[in-house]
Amino acid sequence: MPEKIVIIGAGQAGAQAVQSLRAEGFGGGITLIGEESWPPYQRPPLSKAYLLGQFERPRLFLKPDSFYAEAGCELRLNARARAIHRAERLVEMESGPSIAYDKLLLATGTRVRKLTCPGAELPGVHYLRGIDDVDALQAVFQSGARLAVVGGGYIGLEVAAVAAKRGLDVTVFEAMDRLMARAVSPQLSAFYAAEHAKAGVKLMLRTGVEAIQGTDRVEGIRAGGTVYPADIVLVGIGVLANDDLARVAGLGCEDGIIVDKNARTGDAHIWAAGDCTRHVGHEGHAIRLECVQNAIDQAKHAALAMVGRPKDYSEVPWFWSDQYDLKLQIAGLARPTDMIVQRGDPANRKFAVFHLRDGAVAAVEAVNAAPEYMIGKKLVAEGRRIAPERLADLSVPMKQMAA
Ligand code: FAD
Repeated sequence: MPEKIVIIGAGQAGAQAVQSLRAEGFGGGITLIGEESWPPYQRPPLSKAYLLGQFERPRLFLKPDSFYAEAGCELRLNARARAIHRAERLVEMESGPSIAYDKLLLATGTRVRKLTCPGAELPGVHYLRGIDDVDALQAVFQSGARLAVVGGGYIGLEVAAVAAKRGLDVTVFEAMDRLMARAVSPQLSAFYAAEHAKAGVKLMLRTGVEAIQGTDRVEGIRAGGTVYPADIVLVGIGVLANDDLARVAGLGCEDGIIVDKNARTGDAHIWAAGDCTRHVGHEGHAIRLECVQNAIDQAKHAALAMVGRPKDYSEVPWFWSDQYDLKLQIAGLARPTDMIVQRGDPANRKFAVFHLRDGAVAAVEAVNAAPEYMIGKKLVAEGRRIAPERLADLSVPMKQMAA
């Protein structure tokens, strides 16, 4: 009997795994199970060009419709896996018969962290994870509407930028003392705060949200003891790993399904890839990443391991964010103790911040600075040591840094 691989989660990692399994010559059956009604799609445009109305829905889909049939992959949509029975190697479905597997890949991604304060369930409170969320938001995204964004992270700020462009009256509430505090350096936080302020976005830092107010729907938001009127609330306060299936099945989980460098879980028949995993990253410590790069690269490594040609995964993580006409690109993982080297002037809206650790380039944050990002990523991967004065010197082209 040919082998059967079942993939739970029809998202970025799930679709990549189908493609890679076939590319690596896997000839058995593949079933891709997705609880959403959409075939696998890319999420990044959802809070950017798609929300702005400058990105057509068909372009969101990662593969043409014909891909799955041509790849001999049974794509089951609107299908939610309820449990994994490891001894029998069965996936129990929420409805319909269980599905047998020889090998299983968990690519279940994350779900949004919900606001728990009073009023959080009122109509008019939105989240942004999938196509359906954007569609619901679009319906109320009218010029002049008062939008309260809860959370000054990537998603909240990308939505704030789109909303400002579309003429909404935007206020961002952030409990920390700076924007994107979990993800970027203080230099970047300050730069983005200034850009949002320039666009007319009101920023309320160190302001935790206490309640959403309204009778039948959102009318305001109480934060830092003050009530701010609002018509729409968009919550972007992070995500939680969808690791429940794995945990209940007895697999090791710790804010994510624990996998090794070959995306393998503690069960020799089960792998996991993407946002739902915790793996030992390129710096040698356990990490859970939430980015397209990790979903794609880890799925590729899972596929290799599933066909018996394991290769260690140690790629440098990279990420991007679009806000206004600013393209932020990040490679590597910065730490607060890193030495900061700035290259270029933020006033020109084109600059980079390098993070040096023990003299070596550990991470780069580049704003509208493609060469700094591209070459910076290479320097991070190689752990290249570069003198700070040289890195900051705009008369030395980035190409020469890599030479
Ligand atoms: P997902 O793409 O989330 O796919 C997981 C799928 O599994 C989902 O469809 C889920 O419904 C399904 N599923 C879960 N449990 C079950 C079950 N029991 N049964 C059946 N199906 C199930 N990353 C970047 O690198 N750059 C960006 O600019 C960027 N922007 C983003 C903007 C937004 C609005 C969002 C939401 C994310 C963004 N990301 C960005 C993150 C990126 O989209 C994720 O890292 C990526 O989608 C992870 O892929 P994944 O396959 O692990 O999970």
